[in-house]
Amino acid sequence: MRIDLGSVKKEAKHLEETFDPELPEVEGATAFQGEIIEISGGYELTGFLDGMYRLNCSRCLESFTQPFHLPVRLILKPRPEFVEPERDLAADELDLLFYDDHIIDIGKILRDEIVVNMPLKPVCDLKCRGLCPQCGQNLNKKECSCEREADGGAWSALKSIKKAIYGGE
Ligand SMILES: [Zn+2]
Ligand SMILES: [Zn+2]
Repeated sequence: MRIDLGSVKKEAKHLEETFDPELPEVEGATAFQGEIIEISGGYELTGFLDGMYRLNCSRCLESFTQPFHLPVRLILKPRPEFVEPERDLAADELDLLFYDDHIIDIGKILRDEIVVNMPLKPVCDLKCRGLCPQCGQNLNKKECSCEREADGGAWSALKSIKKAIYGGE
């Protein structure tokens, strides 16, 4: 999915591509719909990425799929000859990409967008009960017979503090 920036003018060029980002966390093809337009000093790439994540739940460790719909907005500028190393990255420059060649690989750029937007702590379901901390049983599938405290750590800690301060129950 290469684009010759020289062919991009001030009138938006519509892009519609289906590609394989070749990431283990992405299942099947990803679709991109958007446009690229010439702006002062560079180009702006906007659109949406639609596809399917294949992730491992951070609670129960099971593999699951989750669709994604990611907005994309990137500014592309030719790489400056000199970049002061200590230059602060202004907030509006975070989505700035430098290109070395006027022929750019959009697939690679979009692939990076999928990577940076990947959920850090994916959960298969908001109600996922995870694994038993004692025996490792997946509690979504089956109960285990381990003893569990009726009320969890933080609450009972608070309760005992309260008890210490006010006394009694
Ligand atoms: Zn889970
Ligand atoms: Zn258990």
